[in-house]
Amino acid sequence: MTVTEESRSDSRPSQAHAFQADVAKLLHLMVHSVYSDKSVFLRELIANAADACERLRYEAIAEPKLLGDDPKPRITLAADAEKRTLAVEDNGIGMSRDDMVEALGTIARSGTKAFIDRLAAADSNAEDNTLIGRFGVGFYSAFMVAERVDVLSRRAGSEATWLWSSDGQGTFSVTELPADAMRRGTRVTLHLSEDVKSYTERLTLERLVKAQSGHVPVPIALIEKPGAEPAEISDGAALWAKPKSDITPGDYTDFYRSIAGQFDDPALIVHFRAEGRQDYTTLFFVPGARPFDLFDPDRKGRIKLYVKRVFITDDADILPRYLRFVRGLVDSADLPLNVSREKIQESPLLAAIRKGATHRVLSELERIADKEPVAFLKIWETFGAVLKEGIYEDFERRDALLALARFKTTASTDASPWRSLKDYVAAMKPNQTAIYYLAGDDLERLKSSPHLEGFRARGVEVLLLPDPVDSFWVMPGVSFDGKPFKSVTQGAADLAAIARADAKEEAQTEAPPAVKIFIAFLKSALGEAVSDVRMSDRLTDSAVCLVAPEGGPDRALEKILASAGRLPSAAKPILEVNPRHDLIVALAGLAESDRAFKEDAAHLLFEEARLLDGDRPVDPRQFADRLGRVLARGLPREAAAGAA
Ligand code: ADP
Ligand code: MG
Repeated sequence: MTVTEESRSDSRPSQAHAFQADVAKLLHLMVHSVYSDKSVFLRELIANAADACERLRYEAIAEPKLLGDDPKPRITLAADAEKRTLAVEDNGIGMSRDDMVEALGTIARSGTKAFIDRLAAADSNAEDNTLIGRFGVGFYSAFMVAERVDVLSRRAGSEATWLWSSDGQGTFSVTELPADAMRRGTRVTLHLSEDVKSYTERLTLERLVKAQSGHVPVPIALIEKPGAEPAEISDGAALWAKPKSDITPGDYTDFYRSIAGQFDDPALIVHFRAEGRQDYTTLFFVPGARPFDLFDPDRKGRIKLYVKRVFITDDADILPRYLRFVRGLVDSADLPLNVSREKIQESPLLAAIRKGATHRVLSELERIADKEPVAFLKIWETFGAVLKEGIYEDFERRDALLALARFKTTASTDASPWRSLKDYVAAMKPNQTAIYYLAGDDLERLKSSPHLEGFRARGVEVLLLPDPVDSFWVMPGVSFDGKPFKSVTQGAADLAAIARADAKEEAQTEAPPAVKIFIAFLKSALGEAVSDVRMSDRLTDSAVCLVAPEGGPDRALEKILASAGRLPSAAKPILEVNPRHDLIVALAGLAESDRAFKEDAAHLLFEEARLLDGDRPVDPRQFADRLGRVLARGLPREAAAGAA
């Protein structure tokens, strides 16, 4: 029996566990990544240690004896160059056996899975090899530098000490140690690979801690070799409590990176102190890059709530959902410390903080939209699709959000692609009463939609709305500057009152009688497929397009509702026909004997309109047959006969 086994002879036998499938995949990617900056592992382990200290501090509010004789939170790094190990130790909350299996064997964070998928998909792409560095991937980053990781932990209030161990090859073991094996808290020991042994050097560690974790609100000490005294390398002073004048931009960036687990630069920093009836400090960051799980339906904000510098929860929904990309914290001087997290949620004090904090973020966005438009547009490009959710979620701030919103429109140019609603309204044509929009799912297709023709001909600007959320906020009742929003794919286009920009005034607004008869024919030929066929004033170049009847959802919203199964009986579209189009005029002129051909043409026109909307033919087989017959008719007689 070896010495180690002997010392564990009174313990339960160790048990082997397999990692959850996603973890195994992540570990593989991590270990084989060519990403060079492996040092992010230290930031992650220190962040976890600080979280553990803060969770203990919170639980001790209700149960002070958890602190025992060791009340001051601390993080200690212990290096051993000879053994090539680095330990990150804390006296925080610790983990039970079940905590370990759960927390270190599965992927808990919602963003992590999206991250892995992205990383796996981009395996060979050089740019994406930097992803690991840009986004925190938590505890597992330890395997970028370690051949084996041992986690020794004892939960606050418990006697049991557990040892979790893994070489990151698909399994881990959990072993119980004698009760006095360690004091409260957790020690993560990394058995470093040969090529990263510099992580046992004092200077390297000091530099990394200062750069990455200098503002963690728990003091950090370093024991540079076995037997040495711990030396403090970071004092654990809360950055947000310092006067602004003492904080450099670099301090903010480091703090942002450690709190957000991202490695980019913040695009906007909102640091302010509210005093008076409510006393609290907020420090918010708008990230420079999109987190992976931004559109995850479960994604909630992660603003941390502190009370007098004690971490309470990151689940207090401080900011509304449409600001879920904002990272940071609120520290209140007024909230009571000794109430449960649930009670805090209902506190009127917290409601006032929520309101004040939300207002502050929006007014900062307004300020830079005004003063630093370039910086603002970058934020809008990254997070505009999320901010727009607020237009229908937050009635109270709807006008403010509409004023912030920027759009691609038919008036966008390469030099200035984004337009505000203020720009739009200023450019409205005489007699134009509505703000027109075209919603869909692809900007390029929107740009070439036939629905825009009549608007372009009159120089009437149309908002192009490619985000799914767009179909929801442009609902009846929403207006800007007194102007309602109106879909160009719905109802009558109302363009007759607006003069054409190209001076090609349509002489006759009445269709010639033959076209009128043809329109009636189309209606009977298409039968149930459409609710109406009528002349269009929105078409100038295309022959046909489909529009939605007035009143219901527009074409884009209808598609979204139908695909979500929320629209059992979709309203039938209206087929609009361009009475001046050559094809329509020619078809209208065909003799009664050409009835079979005209019928094929009617259906093909309908399917053409669907295709232009990005839809597929209703019945592909029939579509192909009709197309075949019509094509054959265009061929010389002999060839067509040969083909038949
Ligand atoms: P995250 O910190 O985002 O939850 P990690 O992968 O960094 O993700 O950590 C996973 C979990 O492991 C943590 O949520 C926590 O429950 C547990 N954990 C990690 N390190 C410690 C520690 N030092 N003390 C207590 N629990 C820890
Ligand atoms: Mg973590």
